[in-house]
Amino acid sequence: MEHAIRRSQPDADVVIVGASFAGLTVARTAAMRGLRVIVIDAMPGPGARIHTTGILVREAVEEIDIPWRLTRRVPGVRLYAPNLRSVDLFAPGYAFFTTRTAALLAWMTGEAEAAGATILWGHRFTGAAHAGGLVRLDGSGLAARYLVGADGARSRVARAFGLGRNRRHLLGVEVEFEPPADFDARFLHCFVNSRFAPGYIAWAAPGPDTLQVGLATACGRPDLDGFLAATEREFGWNAMKVVGRRGGIIPVGGVVPRSAEERVMLIGDAAGWVSPATAGGIRLAFRWGRRAGALLADHLQSGGPDPAKALARELPAFRLKRTMRRLLDVAPPNALLDVVLGTAPMRALAQRVYFHRRGGKVDRGAFEAWLDRQEGDEARRLPPSGEMPG
Ligand SMILES: Cc1cc2nc3c(=O)[nH]c(=O)nc-3n(C[C@H](O)[C@H](O)[C@H](O)COP(=O)(O)OP(=O)(O)OC[C@H]3O[C@@H](n4cnc5c(N)ncnc54)[C@H](O)[C@@H]3O)c2cc1C
Repeated sequence: MEHAIRRSQPDADVVIVGASFAGLTVARTAAMRGLRVIVIDAMPGPGARIHTTGILVREAVEEIDIPWRLTRRVPGVRLYAPNLRSVDLFAPGYAFFTTRTAALLAWMTGEAEAAGATILWGHRFTGAAHAGGLVRLDGSGLAARYLVGADGARSRVARAFGLGRNRRHLLGVEVEFEPPADFDARFLHCFVNSRFAPGYIAWAAPGPDTLQVGLATACGRPDLDGFLAATEREFGWNAMKVVGRRGGIIPVGGVVPRSAEERVMLIGDAAGWVSPATAGGIRLAFRWGRRAGALLADHLQSGGPDPAKALARELPAFRLKRTMRRLLDVAPPNALLDVVLGTAPMRALAQRVYFHRRGGKVDRGAFEAWLDRQEGDEARRLPPSGEMPG
């Protein structure tokens, strides 16, 4: 006798909630491998509400080969003590990349669509439930064989399925200025200051089009105005025109303990894929987002292992970085930071934090001379944002 119960047909193999760094990466890889992919996002379009500074470490650029016109190469780090004495750090061959972040997300959207994914903007996820071997979304009724929550640090997907949440956060705020011509754009300017940025740093990052100045704190409300006032004499922020403001929370407790259940998995910030020490999440979203896309394809197309379980075995445990986070949270007094920051061991530690093992023995004189030539070169390299090739 024929079974009376018919399995309902899925609208997609995978529905992804969140069209940002993690969601768009997994969407592209999964679609490239032939899965039917739908991405929904509450925003009206790509990069509509940016909450990140968007700085990429070099490894992130290599991970998904980002077009040069979306980035600005920043080779050095100038690290300031609370008294504003500074040390310059660099590692020949290495650089950080500030980004035209909204344009980067628009490019990633195009890449995911070109691979075959469908992106639905203005679609908010409110809940979902298992139904007949599928996951069905409330409201839209979209049904998928697998649901991926790439919806950030306050994940609704996590809430809907009772999955793990990060309990440790930094609060970050940032203001964007029209960049003054004389700002030294060869460096990311990083400020260690336990009064204004306990547990993290403040920064002034030369973006491709703007100067991004912000800070994050592990406790209390971020006081960006206080920091700007305290550094006004050296940097003259008051004379610069404000062109944007943003802020958000950064999960720094490491990978969340229960980030999946049957046919549902969290990725990106929702899953705690953020370095607890540096608070960078974009590179991890690229790296592990690609891996998640490949594992989803192996699972849904070829009966491969449960993608969430396979991923859990591969993801870093961040043991050292979680220890560093606990040390950073102590936030030593500024007077102590003033004394130790210029010392050789602290310099070595800072070099390691920013440049990992890179650098080795550096001919500082030769590299500084090379660095001096960089600022003009980089400015000439970038097309104005209005004239970017499509
Ligand atoms: C102030 C600040 C500065 C930072 N600076 C850096 C940096 O310089 N470099 C770095 O590597 N990392 C940085 N980070 C961290 C980095 O931004 C995150 O790790 C990264 O954005 C995570 O990407 P994601 O795709 O997981 O989530 P998100 O970028 O948070 O994207 C989540 C997406 O889900 C959508 N969404 C949310 N809820 C719903 C819903 N209910 N329905 C539908 N869609 C929904 C949102 O609209 C959004 O598009 C910073 C974070 C902050 C807050």
